[in-house]
Amino acid sequence: MVQDVTENNVRMSIPVAHPVIPDPAPLKALAPAAVEQVRTWLHEARNHPTNFSARQLAGVLKDPDGLDFTVGFVDRVVRPEDPAIAAEALRDLAPRTPGFLPWPMRAAMGAGGRLAPAVPQLAVPAARKVLRELVSHLIVDATEDRLGPAIRKLKTPGTRLNINLLGEAILGRGEAAKRMAGIRTLIERDDVDYVSVKVSAATAPHSPWAFEEAVTEVTESLLPLYELAASQAGTPAGSTFINLDMEEYHDLDMTLAVFMRLMDTPQLRTLEAGIVLQAYLPDALDAMIRLQEWSARRVADGGAPIKVRVVKGANLPMEHVQASLTGWPAATCASKQDTDTNYKRVLNYALTEERTRSVRIGVAGHNLFDIALAWLMVRDRGLSTEQVGGRRPDVEFEMLLGMATGQAEAV
Ligand SMILES: Cc1cc2nc3c(=O)[nH]c(=O)nc-3n(C[C@H](O)[C@H](O)[C@H](O)COP(=O)(O)OP(=O)(O)OC[C@H]3O[C@@H](n4cnc5c(N)ncnc54)[C@H](O)[C@@H]3O)c2cc1C
Repeated sequence: MVQDVTENNVRMSIPVAHPVIPDPAPLKALAPAAVEQVRTWLHEARNHPTNFSARQLAGVLKDPDGLDFTVGFVDRVVRPEDPAIAAEALRDLAPRTPGFLPWPMRAAMGAGGRLAPAVPQLAVPAARKVLRELVSHLIVDATEDRLGPAIRKLKTPGTRLNINLLGEAILGRGEAAKRMAGIRTLIERDDVDYVSVKVSAATAPHSPWAFEEAVTEVTESLLPLYELAASQAGTPAGSTFINLDMEEYHDLDMTLAVFMRLMDTPQLRTLEAGIVLQAYLPDALDAMIRLQEWSARRVADGGAPIKVRVVKGANLPMEHVQASLTGWPAATCASKQDTDTNYKRVLNYALTEERTRSVRIGVAGHNLFDIALAWLMVRDRGLSTEQVGGRRPDVEFEMLLGMATGQAEAV
């Protein structure tokens, strides 16, 4: 295991024994079948109608200035609380509106840009509405009267909906309490059975030198949410599944420690919950082994299994910023190929009949080749993707709302 990791690996502090890792050679043999599977999915996806706003956003992002325009709009027009500041930015950005947008949207942006400095209270909300329409397939309005109908529309047989309450970075205890209250409201709903939380949302930023204090504080802040979910066991809707998302590398050890401490709490012994691991970290396999060995003990003692969602990792630019600020090597793999290999390495270890008894796996991503490979591994290793009786599936495939919807339907 040690020789598998790349040079810039920052190794986790807890050493692990040498576990049995399935021979990766059969994975290579599955490659042609995976490519064929992707062809089939793409063929099936062609018949799936694409959403209007998805087509618009894809078109905008194909424009050479599309990404800059969209990011600039979100940062400078949507984010500022002061309409006068947003209006100035809107005037700057409006002439750069991508030509791909249909003319009513372009006209609204153009008029908004010209009028913004004179009547910011009117022009800014109108322009923000245009952007909201552009991303309406990616996010759902969480207000009381909109959320229920949106959930009803999205829930289809065989699909579970994981709801992630988005918002700005949490900078203080008041904001953290507000976010926790918002997630609590979601858990209390009968139509929500799966939510995501983040350690960074549970408390104000902590000192990296106060690891124990931060773990205790975050655990105490999250515990009531998990207790609420546990108290729902036996109700018709059942316990809401809570997933602890993973963010930046500096929070990896803390997120693992908080998760295990929460799940070791006696009243949560029979609650199933999940955590995310990022394969772009060379540490991912060590972390998976650590969770596996801990969860196997928990299950042997009569506890519930856990679920680990395996992703590649979404914070690459931030990891590079951190590395450049400190002069340290980046914590992430050195190349896309290393990340892709590590993703397969983690799945190869985790996707066995014995291991999924204590750690169910979420294969999350939009790379159809990796999904197809995982799909074939699941088939060849005799694992389940469907709930059998009271037992949840060994493996779930997870995608983000609105991204490649046709392909998601085909998978
Ligand atoms: C349902 C779901 C839940 C998710 N939850 C989380 C989460 O909790 N935390 C989180 O961090 N992410 C999460 N993600 C995002 C995920 O980590 C990936 O960013 C995203 O899925 C893109 O990866 P891919 O396999 O779909 O696509 P691909 O195009 O195959 O891979 C892109 C990924 O490769 C890696 N990569 C790209 N270039 C390089 C490079 N030069 N060096 C090293 N690595 C590189 C990056 O991780 C990048 O995101 C989630 C994704 C999904 C679908």
